[in-house]
Amino acid sequence: MKVTALRNRCIASGTCVLAAKAVFSQRESDGVVELLQEHPSLEQLQKVRQAVAACPSQVFVVEEEDNLSELTLSTNDEEM
Ligand code: SF4
Repeated sequence: MKVTALRNRCIASGTCVLAAKAVFSQRESDGVVELLQEHPSLEQLQKVRQAVAACPSQVFVVEEEDNLSELTLSTNDEEM
């Protein structure tokens, strides 16, 4: 599964951090989401899914893949 955080959409609610604190953090200056890991272990998959679903601002874009052996996260700071 690939997850891209479209950070311009982030409203700094912190919900993703509550769901998956080993993976997500918030930038100190403005609370925008940051990644602590780009390749978390699959043990984090459920929590990442919860974070994606709980985000109130549709920041995360998910690409499901047939092969569920990898979890990859990235950020995109471009205007969408
Ligand atoms: S839950 Fe969404 S809006 Fe809130 S901090 Fe995380 S990415 Fe940003």
